[in-house]
Formats: sequence, structure tokens, C-alpha cells
Amino acid sequence: MLKDQDRIFTNLYGMHDRTLKGAQARGHWDGTAKLIQQGRDAIIDTMKASGLRGRGGAGFPTGLKWSFMPKESDGRPAYLVINADESEPGTCKDREIMRHDPHTLIEGALIASFAMNAHTCYIYLRGEYIREREALQAAIDEAYDAGLLGKNAAGSGWDFDVFLHHGAGAYICGEETALIESLEGKKGMPRMKPPFPAGAGLYGCPTTVNNVESIAVVPTILRRGGEWFASFGRPNNAGTKLFAISGHVNNPCVVEEAMSISFEELIEKHCGGIRGGWDNLLAVIPGGSSVPCVRGENMRDAIMDFDYLRNDLGSGLGTAAVIVMDKQTDIIKAIWRLSKFYKHESCGQCTPCREGTGWMMRVMERLVEGNADPEEIDMLWDVTKQVEGHTICALGDAAAWPIQGLIRNFRDEIEGRIKAKKSRRPGVMAAE
Ligand code: SF4
Repeated sequence: MLKDQDRIFTNLYGMHDRTLKGAQARGHWDGTAKLIQQGRDAIIDTMKASGLRGRGGAGFPTGLKWSFMPKESDGRPAYLVINADESEPGTCKDREIMRHDPHTLIEGALIASFAMNAHTCYIYLRGEYIREREALQAAIDEAYDAGLLGKNAAGSGWDFDVFLHHGAGAYICGEETALIESLEGKKGMPRMKPPFPAGAGLYGCPTTVNNVESIAVVPTILRRGGEWFASFGRPNNAGTKLFAISGHVNNPCVVEEAMSISFEELIEKHCGGIRGGWDNLLAVIPGGSSVPCVRGENMRDAIMDFDYLRNDLGSGLGTAAVIVMDKQTDIIKAIWRLSKFYKHESCGQCTPCREGTGWMMRVMERLVEGNADPEEIDMLWDVTKQVEGHTICALGDAAAWPIQGLIRNFRDEIEGRIKAKKSRRPGVMAAE
């Protein structure tokens, strides 16, 4: 279990003072100028040595991403954009940083922007996060008043501004290029890549989009060293991580833990176990709604990191939003609900996603009732394969994967329901 002295987020539950004074008492904004004066290359090298992989879901190495930004400006400004959209169902970790520990995010924004030659950072905040915006804006105002932002920010010699932008509640604006479009005042529709944002992003200028947690851990990594951060977790899966555990556990919570902790330890130590005990565990979605679900019996010994969940269980760590479902869950209906969500949130600009998400949702609707032929399960599988990888952005994949996980792991359940419907025994149909 992660020791208290190794926690980066020391006010995750809002038990302490979240103002600048409180943050400084907990070690934030301590010697920030010195960290910056190490220079760009040293900061990026430390980030690479830390092994930090992006915390927004894709898991791309953060230091490497920063190194894609041009070292010298060609006359265009560079931007850091922080993705605080956090709209993936089940994901609720970044909000805890923004409302309870906002200064570590703002300090991280300054350091990261300096490392990428950016004088301006935009934080794009989810539309529904009203209280989080208030807390974050109050922290930004305090930082300006104290000289930590603005001209010669924190005495570093670097001029730096932060702007908070409040979205309007569209899931797709969490996709980095849709987010950039939305920031520019347009409809939040993903762009084709290339060009990638590091070449032409916000206003056509070099831009890096990072998740809140990825930026908020930066100051502590620089203070304690890349090797310290890399000492947690298995190789290639380094660091501490916020896990957001919801669903049928006794105490749902957001907790910072070492990467590669076992699922059983995570649930027993922090969530008081599975509701009704381990034998009552049906399925787990380990990384936010877009990753495939896993059967409960395969999760108990699972290692909670990027590589294990992908290579050994065919799922993913994603945002580490762990959704636990016990045997009272109608798993077909639960996945149908996700299909409905993705159908609703499709921006509609590519045909496989616009048509496919609706098509998949409607078949799922019938599967919930058992009102289908068994061959339709394979047809549905084929459609998910035609959507997956054939769209501009990852929403198509996100809509396909939960259904693939359902068919792979719970085919017997789907077939049983179809059979029950055909034999007119509605009593055994969980959906009715
Ligand atoms: Fe829009 Fe869906 Fe295409 Fe993404 S995959 S660009 S959400 S239509």
C-alpha cells in the first residue's frame, strides 16, 4: 500500500485548507523558480526518467509528448492546453484535484508550459463542473495576486498566463482536437490527424494537450526526482495513480495508489470489499466506460496497470475509473446504457460512428429483451469491427469496445436470454 509520505495529492478529500496558504504549508510552490531554472531539457529528461504515461486514458509517455514541441519558435506562440473535461462515465478523479488541490495543477501548468516554450495555458473544464470552476478560478486569482502567475511568474523570469475555459457539457470535447476546436469558438468536432497539435493545434500553433492529473503530478516529480516516481509500479507502468472506484463496492472512493497494485488489494484496502463478498462479483470495467468489461473471476488477481489489463485481460487501464458490478447487475442492460451514451455523444461527422452507434444501440436494446436471433450476436460483433478503427476519433472505438467485451465475456448470458424469450419463460428474464 502506498505510504502517506509518498502521496502527491495531500488534500484529495478536502480535509485541509485548499487556499494558497494551505497549499504552501503542504509543500506546493516551494522553490518553483529553481525547478524552472534547471532548464527545458533537464525538465523534459526528468519527466522521461519518471516513466509518467498520460493519465487521460491513452497512456502516451508524457515526457516524450512534450519533446515533440518545437524547441525554437518560428514566430508562432506555443500553448499548453489542460484537458479538464473528464466526461467519461465512471471517471471522477480530476475533479478532486481541481476542487481540493488546485495549486498543484497550477504550479504544474507553469512548469510544463515553460518546458514547452509556452507563455499561455488554457484549462478546458467540463461544463457540469461548476464548483470545480469556482475553486480553480479562486486558486488562479490567488496565484496572480501572489505573483506566482503573470509577469515573471514565481520569480522564474518566465511570463505566464492561465485562462480557465468552461465547456458546455459535450463528451466529445474531451477529445483533444475537438477540445481545441471548441476553445477556438467552433463546434466541438474532432479534426483529422495529421497535422498533430504539436505542429498545428490551437489557432494553428504548436499545442500540447495534457490531462489534469498528468500536469498536477509534475511539481512533485521534479522535487523528488524521476527515479522516485519510477520506483512505483512495474516497468513501463510507473508512478502513483488516482483510482476512482464506483459501483458495487462497500465504500466507493477516489484514492491515490501505486500503479500495478492488485485489484483485490485495491478493493479490500480502500473500498471495504465487494458488496456481498467476492463470490458476488459479476464483472468489472477497469478503466472508464470505453474499455471492455472483464468477468469478475478474472479480475481478483488482476494487476492494475496499462500493460497487464491490455495484454492479459484484453481490456485497459484507461482513466483508472473502476466500475464494479455484482451479480444483481443486468450486464446486458448496463452495456446497452453505455451504447446509448455513445450514440448520444457522437458528433456525427463520420458515417461509421454516426450510423454505427445508433445501429449498435438498437440491437443492444433488443438483446436486453432477448428479442433477437442468436445469429444477430455475430452480426453485432461484425458491426463493432466495422466501426472500430474506421473513424476520425476514438469515440467509434469507445462505442465498439464495451459491446465486444460483453460478447466475449457474457455470450452465454445473451444467448440464455434469447432462448428464454423464445421459450416464453419471462420469469427467468432478468430484464423484465
Ligand atoms: Fe465524430 Fe464519431 Fe467521427 Fe469521432 S468518431 S469524429 S465522434 S462521428
